[in-house]
Amino acid sequence: MISYEQAKAIVLQAGRGRKPEGEQVITKDLVGRVCAQDLRAPIDIQPFDNSAMDGFAVRIGDLGNNGGVLNRVSMVAAGDSVPDEPLHAGECTEIMTGAPVPPGTEAVVPVELVEVNDDQVRFKVQPEMGANIRRAGEDFKKGMDVLRAGQVIYPQHIMPLAALGIDKVEVYKKPRAVFMATGNELVEDLSQDLKPGQIYNSNLPYGLAALEAMGVECSVASSVPDDPDQFEKLLTNFATQEIDFIISSGAVSAGKFDFVREGLEKAGAEILFHKVNIKPGKPNLFARLPNGTLYFGLPGNPVATAAGLRFFVQPCIRAMMGMGEEKPVSAKATTPFKKRDGLRVFLKARAESGEGGALVVDLLDGQASFMVSPFLGMNCWAVAPEGVEEIKVDDIVDLYPLYPQAGLV
Ligand code: AMP
Ligand code: MG
Repeated sequence: MISYEQAKAIVLQAGRGRKPEGEQVITKDLVGRVCAQDLRAPIDIQPFDNSAMDGFAVRIGDLGNNGGVLNRVSMVAAGDSVPDEPLHAGECTEIMTGAPVPPGTEAVVPVELVEVNDDQVRFKVQPEMGANIRRAGEDFKKGMDVLRAGQVIYPQHIMPLAALGIDKVEVYKKPRAVFMATGNELVEDLSQDLKPGQIYNSNLPYGLAALEAMGVECSVASSVPDDPDQFEKLLTNFATQEIDFIISSGAVSAGKFDFVREGLEKAGAEILFHKVNIKPGKPNLFARLPNGTLYFGLPGNPVATAAGLRFFVQPCIRAMMGMGEEKPVSAKATTPFKKRDGLRVFLKARAESGEGGALVVDLLDGQASFMVSPFLGMNCWAVAPEGVEEIKVDDIVDLYPLYPQAGLV
């Protein structure tokens, strides 16, 4: 049995070998995609000096400490082109927010600080140099870094991309996966009543939802009975398709019907590891099919499947896209936890802001690997490392958000 770190290193190496091709995607569709290019600002933004207020464009020297009176000679609105005529001595231009300032403008005085009588404008104050003028290039300078390859694109990135007139970005093609849930006991149709011995197939819809949140395109999702022949046929079929990875749940431990490993071996797959020193999910299996497709054999217990998707499949996706290794967030435990067997344990947890604003984490009740009721309140995974036998209240623990592509990391 290997450690989680050893297993992860194997997964990362395999992932790095399957870098997806790039594709151009239009800006409005970029959320959740991973940038495949280093992108720089193509222009200055703002593109021209313009007014931050509705008011009057002035030259400072025309006004004294107590203001003064200037002659209104013109008006510019947002969308007008940059005025040709500069401001002359004794003149002002009425200007709207976002409108280009006339050449020679040194400040804009807000409309609230003037009195207007016909074209005579009385200023009550002398503004400071540059007041209420947004300078060209103040927000973005042409050539500055905008996005890096390997960066996930979130909604907040769409605003600067659009502001810069970037209509398309080169992103990595979504990894392609298939998800199979194995088990004779499983009922896929959730509207059907359970017969004795049956349970609903929760891993399949969960797997699809989690993979979608991870930016993966899942082309096939199916329930597979505990029938080695059917499994082998499916593998043969998948071997002819362009799939980055196959994920299965169940049938990887030591039971009589745990046929995944044998099926993979018959199909000529290289078993990269089987059994990892973790909980839940000790029987995790990772393999490579002869055509290069990777295979994640996740144990069937729902929490083991979820942890496998998060701690094996997700790092693999990051490695494929050239993203750096994920760093955990730390928090103080508010609940204790004990373990003995030297395993690395992934815990269902809930992090919140504690007293004084620091993050605290509740290691939830119901850590057994079949128990999914804590998923309702869970918002992260906490990690109890191999060497730690006890987490005490106020101990610092490492946390991982549920779906990094939607989180802070
Ligand atoms: P296995 O890894 O196939 O031995 O399954 C371990 C446990 O997880 C058993 O109690 C299974 O009934 C349960 N299980 C396996 N697959 C699923 C699934 N798709 N949905 C819900 N429970 C499952
Ligand atoms: Mg099973």
